[in-house]
Amino acid sequence: MNQQLFESVDQYIGRLFYNEDACLKETEQSIIRSGIPQISVSPNQGKFLHILARLCNAKKILEMGTLGGYSTIWMARALPANGKLITLEIDKNHADVARQNFNRCGLASKIEIRLGKAIDILPSLKEEGAGPFDMIFIDADKPPYTEYFQWALKLARPGTLIIADNVIREGKVLLQESPDEMVTGVKRFNQFLSQCSDVTATIFQTVGAKEHDGMAIALVK
Ligand code: SAM
Repeated sequence: MNQQLFESVDQYIGRLFYNEDACLKETEQSIIRSGIPQISVSPNQGKFLHILARLCNAKKILEMGTLGGYSTIWMARALPANGKLITLEIDKNHADVARQNFNRCGLASKIEIRLGKAIDILPSLKEEGAGPFDMIFIDADKPPYTEYFQWALKLARPGTLIIADNVIREGKVLLQESPDEMVTGVKRFNQFLSQCSDVTATIFQTVGAKEHDGMAIALVK
């Protein structure tokens, strides 16, 4: 694969279409400074999520996997004044970095971080009637992606957009067997998604600043 070409094209697209302001740049810097993994979505993917949120007129967004809040900020910026985004994060250090970024970006009133295991928090969201969400972004740990998606369906309505990142894993999903539970987790999810009659869905491959991967996109019927 020509990674250098993909990165150059990503930069070319970036120069044309996305304007990362000081807030987003500082969010990226905060992630580097605090030593947390540099595994946010790319700027171009962030812009893509922003456009999707606007396309579905999202007023309520759910995210699983906050990290430093980079994707969260792109999506939250698509919300109307009374919009709300709930983001789930297991790691307190990540959540603290994200919180500082939301404050600095003036988004604290729109974003709620829930700290804990996503699989434990999702039932409480249902119980308290936090949904239905207009858009749900799945980007936490990969082994339970199928369970996250099943919860996403319970927290959705017809027309909700569900997006799941990192579902191609440099093509390793083509392997019959893999010792990597992230690969087996997304393979199980992709298979489930392909047979789920509650949604119409597809996966598109992603290349660029990030390694070869893919995003699944599902529209709830
Ligand atoms: N969405 C972020 C972005 O693009 O800016 C990146 C999220 S990163 C790929 C995955 C995040 O999920 C990490 O911050 C990790 O700590 C968190 N995570 C991992 N396992 C989790 C779990 N069981 N519940 C909630 N969050 C989890």
